[in-house]
Amino acid sequence: MNGNEQQQQQIQVNIDNTDAVTCEECNNGYFTPAVMIRRLSPLVSPTGQEAMVPIQLFQCTQCGYVNEHFLPEELRHAKPERTNDQNS
Ligand SMILES: [Zn+2]
Repeated sequence: MNGNEQQQQQIQVNIDNTDAVTCEECNNGYFTPAVMIRRLSPLVSPTGQEAMVPIQLFQCTQCGYVNEHFLPEELRHAKPERTNDQNS
């Protein structure tokens, strides 16, 4: 006997337990996949070579905004600043 059972990892999601995610800018509820590419400098790369690191995220189909929580935490501050945040 060899225990070659394939474990099927099926994640069952109960839609009732989910919350709708909407665009933080325009409240649109639809998103399109987008990929952000980060360049890893040879100076800090473990291999000593430049590397391109793709980061999958989702972009609002309406206004193109990417909600902050789609970004890895380290990148949230690196996002281009919005200009409409001023309190006057
Ligand atoms: Zn939007």
